[in-house]
Amino acid sequence: MTFVNWNSQKANYNYVFEIIYAINGFTSVVPCMELIQDINVKLIPFSSKDFKLIASSYKANTIDGFTLKQPDGTYEIAFNKDMIMPRIKMTIYHELGHIYLKHFSERSFILENEKEKEANVFASHLLLPHSLLHDYRDGYMNEHFDEFLRNSVSNQALEIRCCTYELDQKRIERVLANKNISDYERAALRI
Ligand SMILES: [Zn+2]
Repeated sequence: MTFVNWNSQKANYNYVFEIIYAINGFTSVVPCMELIQDINVKLIPFSSKDFKLIASSYKANTIDGFTLKQPDGTYEIAFNKDMIMPRIKMTIYHELGHIYLKHFSERSFILENEKEKEANVFASHLLLPHSLLHDYRDGYMNEHFDEFLRNSVSNQALEIRCCTYELDQKRIERVLANKNISDYERAALRI
């Protein structure tokens, strides 16, 4: 998993944001176990001493984790359990992003760095939905929210989400333009 500034480069944002909307409506944090059950993925934790899996991870240019597609079409996500929790969460959601965005199937043709950007957008928007980020930026912080951020979102992910907030809002509005959104939903979305 590598973090890149996805705004400066091309990626199919409309597609990615449509998938995110279908999963969480841009408002809620979806537990990764729910996402995992929906697509039948097996999680495989490995430690830094597990040389075989570390070596496979290096091949994927990361020490955090990677996804294996099995011959029967199911997936296994291996992740480094020795990392801190926000980083582990980011890794698992990022790898789920590759699967949900069909990077190993129908959309395997897109460029590797575009896949990485898309998976990062997917992960960071599910871990920190638009409405939550809005409240954070507006200063509606309380202890619970502070604790949530510390446990769930890496500083790097939070920083990038804050930098891309305005642009993301435009993309979200574009996705919602074709949908029937109630006033209640608009309020929940902070748009
Ligand atoms: Zn990746």
